Amino acid sequence: MTDAPLKLFNSLTRRHEVFAPVHPGEARVYTCGPTVYNYPHIGNMRAYVFADVLGRTLSWKGYKLTHVINITDVGHLTDDADAGEDKMEKMAAEKAQKGEATSIWDIAEHYKQAYWADVRALNIREPAQWTVATDYVAQMIAFAQGIADKHCYELESGLYFDVSTVADYGRLARAVTEDGEGRIESVEGKRNAADFAIWRKTPPGETRQMEWDSPWGRGAPGWHLECSVMSGEVLGFPFDIHTGGIDHREIHHPNEIAQNQAHCCTNGLDDPKNSGAKIWMHNNFLVERSGKMSKSSGEFLRLQLLVDKGYHPLAYRLMCLQAHYRSELEFSWEGLGAALTRLKRMVMGVETLRARLPGAGRDPAHLGPGLRRGDDWGKLQPALDKFDAAIADDLNTAVALTALDDVLAAKKVDPETKAKLAAAMDGVLGLDLLNLTRADLRIQPKAATITEAEITAALARRKEARTAKDFATSDAIRDELAAQGVEVMDGDPLGWEWKLS
Ligand code: AMP
Ligand code: ZN
Repeated sequence: MTDAPLKLFNSLTRRHEVFAPVHPGEARVYTCGPTVYNYPHIGNMRAYVFADVLGRTLSWKGYKLTHVINITDVGHLTDDADAGEDKMEKMAAEKAQKGEATSIWDIAEHYKQAYWADVRALNIREPAQWTVATDYVAQMIAFAQGIADKHCYELESGLYFDVSTVADYGRLARAVTEDGEGRIESVEGKRNAADFAIWRKTPPGETRQMEWDSPWGRGAPGWHLECSVMSGEVLGFPFDIHTGGIDHREIHHPNEIAQNQAHCCTNGLDDPKNSGAKIWMHNNFLVERSGKMSKSSGEFLRLQLLVDKGYHPLAYRLMCLQAHYRSELEFSWEGLGAALTRLKRMVMGVETLRARLPGAGRDPAHLGPGLRRGDDWGKLQPALDKFDAAIADDLNTAVALTALDDVLAAKKVDPETKAKLAAAMDGVLGLDLLNLTRADLRIQPKAATITEAEITAALARRKEARTAKDFATSDAIRDELAAQGVEVMDGDPLGWEWKLS
């Protein structure tokens, strides 16, 4: 097995750095999770596919991984800074207005389950721990008390963090903080435009569905405080890697870093341990041609919508892997269709391979990763080297995929060796190639008016007609199918007999 040093792009230094774990042999990773006030869109899910590939890569490199993803069920405002309403409270109010008497806790539970369903559908590995923000409120209050004297001040609306009390505030965002860049709506009395609430008091005369007592009155924790507390509590400061979408590089993560500096009582960011995590990594956005992906405007691109249209969720995962995580990726149905075709090719490659394996080898369970240093990969060694170098180069999944293609296409190679290597590579890419079948990839679109059984029966009748050289009947059946949106694919190189058009 080859051993290219793992290089990752650290947003804090804006450089690639060789991964050097805080605890030898271990990798501790924290990922900012979803705010469970609505379904995630597929752009959100790109963030978790990226974090999953990172975790799988750390495992491939032999580190014992502890991955934590949080669930934000309180505190995230409609604006990432300090403006707007709590997203959860807002959704609860909207539902109440529509006459749906759903509690905020039920809303959180419903969307958490929906998020987990997408996680499973995308073959994202379960992290070691899901931390739920409302389970950590006592620890959040204790954390805030610990930094309040030196770093915070109280206003009518809450306890605010004074960003001028830490060195290099905003270094992660490369932001100019003096004028706050006009992006942070001002709250009366704030000392600096970038100061942010770490505890939000419930306004007098109001009650919130989610509120707790604190030394600063009844209220709720700030969103940035949550991630500082959950990451530090579970992984211990400093831990190795903190991930999130690129938008978090601008406000959420700089604010977490400022809190971590205050909490650790050490300041300068030139010593990476002071920021809480040594490496901060950010995935770029999935965008629509029309602009930013949104849950409220246009077609709401949920994973379920893709499935309803007949696309397997792992085609979307493959679409993500074909781009570098730091590049913007434009979503298109054509692109998704191309990814599905590529996935079909790969699944067929593995199916052919499996058919050549002796006995138990046909059972995917027998094809586990099992790569060992010093194993002889013979003709496949260049593909393994290419894969390892690519994935170690800041997770270059696009090139790693071509190395897997090379393995599947290799001729005159022992099938068992080939299967073992393909399985190990897929252990990093997570396309579930050993379990997927061609039948799984053929998803019936929700709007289809014809069932798969009906199509199969029509094609069987057509075959009979062709055998009998009755081409008029054969063509008529083909036209009938076309009228129902089924394209017959005679001579398709992948062996697919039809597709829904
Ligand atoms: P939220 O539930 O809004 O907190 O977002 C969950 C995660 O999705 C965060 O890491 C965001 O940075 C990330 N994210 C939001 N929109 C996109 C997008 N269009 N593409 C990729 N990641 C996104
Ligand atoms: Zn976070």
